[in-house]
Amino acid sequence: MTVDKDFNFELDLHCNKCDHTETVLVRERDYDAWSGNGVFIQEAFYYLSSDQRELMISNTCGVCWNKIYAHEMFDNRTVHDAMIDRSNEPSIERNELDHVFADKHNIDIKGDWLLRVQSNPFFKAKEKYGFDISSSVYLSKRQIKTIQEKADSGLTMIHFWLNWGDQMRFDTLALETNSVYSVQSRLLSRCMECGETFAKTLKDGGYLPYDDAEDDDVWIINVSKFNNLKVEV
Ligand SMILES: [Zn+2]
Repeated sequence: MTVDKDFNFELDLHCNKCDHTETVLVRERDYDAWSGNGVFIQEAFYYLSSDQRELMISNTCGVCWNKIYAHEMFDNRTVHDAMIDRSNEPSIERNELDHVFADKHNIDIKGDWLLRVQSNPFFKAKEKYGFDISSSVYLSKRQIKTIQEKADSGLTMIHFWLNWGDQMRFDTLALETNSVYSVQSRLLSRCMECGETFAKTLKDGGYLPYDDAEDDDVWIINVSKFNNLKVEV
């Protein structure tokens, strides 16, 4: 990275799973562009690593992200055995945050679910998309694919845990939020195809079919609408 006096905005990144912390220096205008003006995180912070960007969004470091799911990604036999044995033990290795989450929200730790944490509000959700800040999730196609690869099956429940304190930016107040919204893995991509009421692309605010999206395309998803998704029997 070239030395630039503009890189003077300190961000403290913290992994909730292993307590890894690091401080990165970014330009404040990049932070504003990302958190308030809908610029892709990978465009705003192109100079950070993808692990650092993930840490910023979900408070999960690359090491923990890989640790949680690696055995499923690289060993088909493990996946197969895990599916057979699912009634006895979870196929997903649970970490401390998973346990805290399950305790707080009364969710069975042995259940077939994956956790996705968002610790930063998307301040412009209301203004730009008409969505409540407290139920707006941002997710790239690559992240959706990763989640689906990690799910045992289409029935695996994906829990989105939106968790942050009161904060204010851009004259917009984001109230303290501690909410969980859940969707079956097989329905996650479908909610991207439901158009106006569910999700909007971050890039241009318009409707972008999931199939047409690039890996880097990002959606703002109105997760409060998950319950409206029809489940096929
Ligand atoms: Zn970690």
